Amino acid sequence: MDLDGINIEIEAGNGRLAIVNNAGGKGFIICESCGYARIFNGKPLPAHRTEFGKECKGRSSRYSLGYEFKTDIFSLKFIGYHDKRKGFWESLLYGLVEGACRALEIERQDIDGTLYSYKGDPTSPAIVLFDDVPGGAGQVKRIAEEENFKKVLEKTLKLMSSCECGGEEGDSSCYGCLRNYTNQYCHDILKRKYVIEFVSMLLNLI
Ligand SMILES: [Zn+2]
Ligand SMILES: [Zn+2]
Repeated sequence: MDLDGINIEIEAGNGRLAIVNNAGGKGFIICESCGYARIFNGKPLPAHRTEFGKECKGRSSRYSLGYEFKTDIFSLKFIGYHDKRKGFWESLLYGLVEGACRALEIERQDIDGTLYSYKGDPTSPAIVLFDDVPGGAGQVKRIAEEENFKKVLEKTLKLMSSCECGGEEGDSSCYGCLRNYTNQYCHDILKRKYVIEFVSMLLNLI
């Protein structure tokens, strides 16, 4: 991996964020009559009970679930850097979320993150962190301050290097490093080694 010639672009501010929860690409299947939903597994929805306990055989359709809200956003782009390894960007994203929480004393449930393929290229997405409260609480904006950004990177590296899951290579993740109940959709592809490798190089650059 070579980071020469990469432009790091940092932005922070207030923005509208559309969060689409598509269960890691699988989508959801939802009953049009009662709203019963579950992760799509290739099969139509079987007969089920409504929330009032009545049996329902309503028609079902496949959806991504989404909502939009205004909040504080921090975005990080590595222009010119592409990585197509499975789980690389998710690992980096959640590593930075954990690092930001520890470095800036933010509660984990107060912020979250997502990947945004702003050019339609999933091998080079923006890493977006946001305040997980409508309107924002000014938390993630602090990461953009120069001193804080470095602190966040250092803390991220320290957290990921000090975990022991996946052996010396760090070829895995656990609840002590990258995993959290909100990122269950990608637990099996999160690897702390990706974060260690990339953040070490970033720290040499800045
Ligand atoms: Zn139904
Ligand atoms: Zn771990």
